[in-house]
Amino acid sequence: MRIVLLGAPGAGKGTQAKKLVEKYGIPQVSTGDLLRAAVAAGTTLGKEAKAVMDKGELVPDSIVLGMMEERMKQDDMKKGYILDGFPRNTKQAEALDAMLAKLNMPLTAALSVDVPFEDLMKRLTGRRTCKSCGQMYNVYFSPSKAEGTCDKCGAALFQRDDDKEETIKKRLEVYSASTAPLIDYYKGKGILKSVSGTGGIDSIFGEVCAQLGLK
Ligand code: AMP
Repeated sequence: MRIVLLGAPGAGKGTQAKKLVEKYGIPQVSTGDLLRAAVAAGTTLGKEAKAVMDKGELVPDSIVLGMMEERMKQDDMKKGYILDGFPRNTKQAEALDAMLAKLNMPLTAALSVDVPFEDLMKRLTGRRTCKSCGQMYNVYFSPSKAEGTCDKCGAALFQRDDDKEETIKKRLEVYSASTAPLIDYYKGKGILKSVSGTGGIDSIFGEVCAQLGLK
C-alpha cells in the first residue's frame, strides 16, 4: 500500500494516517512533521523553514524533495507508506512520480479527504497539541477536561505557531492555489479516491478503508 493523502489543512489527514499506521503497521511520512523536527532541532534548514512555515507559505521544493528522497531510502518504506502533506504542488507530484518510477514502486492510490471550507477555520484555530505525548484536542469539538492540560499525561497543551488565524488564512489560500490541483492530477492518472472528512473519526476511517479496498 503506497498512498498519498490529499486534503486541506485541518481536513483530518493526519488523524486518518495515524489510524492506518496503527492498523496496518506501515509508516506515515509527514513532511510537516519532518520540518517541525528540523525546526525543533534548530538546524540551518529548520531555521529557514520556520520563517516560511510561520507565514503559512510552502517551504521551497528543493528542501522538501531533498528530505523526501532521504526518507524514501530508509528500509521501513519497503513495506509501503502513507504520505501526509506531500506532495503539495504539481512540481512535487511529478518529482515523486519520477522517484517512484526509478524504484519501480508506483503509488497505489491518492485519497482525498474532503471537508467544506467553512468548517476548516474552526478545526484549525481550535487545534491544541500536547507538548509531551502529541495527543491532539480541539477547543470547539473535542476539548481536554481541564483547559490547557492533556487528559492522557497531564502536560501542557500548545497551539502550533502556524495555527494562528492570519497564518491559517494564508495556508488555506496556498492549498486552493497550489495543492487542490493535485486532485485533478491524480484523477488523470486513474488512482484518485475520495471520502467525506465530516463526521466521527471512526466512521470516516471505515470509509477510508473501504475506498482503499482494505479489510
Ligand atoms: P502540515 O503539518 O502538513 O500542515 O505542514 C505545515 C507547514 O509545513 C506548511 O504550511 C508548509 O509551510 C510546510 N510544509 C509541509 N509539507 C510541505 C511540502 N510538501 N511542501 C512545502 N511545504 C511544506
